[in-house]
Amino acid sequence: MSLATVAAHGFRINGAGHLELAGIDALVLARDFGTPLHVLDEGRLRANCGEYRDALAQAYGRNARAIFASKACCTVATCQIAHQEGMGIDVASGGELHTALRAGVPAKDLYFHGNNKTPDEIEYALRTGVGRFVVDNDHEFDLLETLTARLDTTADILLRLTPGIEPHTHQAIRTGGVDSKFGFGMLDGAAYRAVVRSSRMPRVRLRGLHAHIGSQVFDLEPFRTSAGALVDFAARIRDELDVTVDELNLGGGLGIRYVTTDEPPSITGYVRALADVVTAKVREHRLSPPRLSVEPGRSIVGSAGVTLYTVGAIKSIPGVRTYVAVDGGMFENPRPALYGAHYEAVAAARAADAATDVMAVAGRCCESGDVLIWEVRLPPVRSGDLLAVFGTGAYTYSMASNYNRFPRPAVVLAGDGRARCVVERETYDDLLRKDVAL
Ligand SMILES: *Cc1c(COP(=O)(O)O)cnc(C)c1O
Repeated sequence: MSLATVAAHGFRINGAGHLELAGIDALVLARDFGTPLHVLDEGRLRANCGEYRDALAQAYGRNARAIFASKACCTVATCQIAHQEGMGIDVASGGELHTALRAGVPAKDLYFHGNNKTPDEIEYALRTGVGRFVVDNDHEFDLLETLTARLDTTADILLRLTPGIEPHTHQAIRTGGVDSKFGFGMLDGAAYRAVVRSSRMPRVRLRGLHAHIGSQVFDLEPFRTSAGALVDFAARIRDELDVTVDELNLGGGLGIRYVTTDEPPSITGYVRALADVVTAKVREHRLSPPRLSVEPGRSIVGSAGVTLYTVGAIKSIPGVRTYVAVDGGMFENPRPALYGAHYEAVAAARAADAATDVMAVAGRCCESGDVLIWEVRLPPVRSGDLLAVFGTGAYTYSMASNYNRFPRPAVVLAGDGRARCVVERETYDDLLRKDVAL
């Protein structure tokens, strides 16, 4: 049922039977901006930020903050909105750092992540005065030692720890287990040695601890376990090394609804679960309560995004499958090809019609695996129809490429019945801008 699908994703259908996004007819958005088109519902985006802010304040008090993991959708506009809503910004490369600075986010509100920051990136971050380096490994300590001395400056750091926890999610988006490229292992003593090392570095100030266990996680238990392990570790390094942990950053990873049957925990429920564990453990160890932060990406932007496509070729293979090809694909949303991610779609002009036919929504890249949805129920679809795919706000545009030399789509921000372009559609000339002819 298309109606039920639209409702499950929190959108509505207007009087004409068309899908409506933030008060705007989806057909009008497609007409005005073209397809494929990434639409972000500004109200949803701000509401998700606000839910984190309010839930943290309620569950933990004022000494708490949500930080937007910008990699989920790193544009100047999304960084601006997150910061306007009181969030810090997590950046994981020089390019994301540059974007957040261009968005006007003060450097002190930036958290610099990454498992292989380059000397140039570290220098850029030191020169701009990034708030926190989240130090991942000893190589980064070496670089910080050299570069803080050369620039005669200091760095405030969190240590990225790997607690050895495996949440139930796709292997490629698990990050907290023992066998991970990220962070200092807590089980093998690497984390402890990193604390010792940082306490001996005159230009580095250890402010706190960080862990991020994975992404698109629905089960709260691994989050609780990870939070508890960090507080236990904070108590241990206080007792044994006289090191104070002022800040605890519990990472991101809360899952969202991609298909109607997905039942992720609410933002509020997730935040409360974390805050309760930290509060109880802090009391148990008689620690002074650290500043608490979480670092959501997907649960900020994911549900706010809808991608609009125009249907082109339709290929029916009797008894096998019908492929409905759209004007996007893995170049603008690689998640189905990369992770086997699932999505739902509706025909935007007939959003209230019965979804009677099963079909595959294929992309237009030269790869058989470029199928956005392998099985979706839609009303009978014709070439020229507009399809809307839900839940595409996170890890789509930010992962987009120019494979097959397709220009990346535009991103529009829709709110209160108005829409504005926040990233322009690429042109063919944009694609050639860095080519050098012989
Ligand atoms: C990706 C990432 C996040 C955000 O994860 P989501 O699943 O999008 O919430 C937070 N922290 C770190 C360190 C990350 O790498």
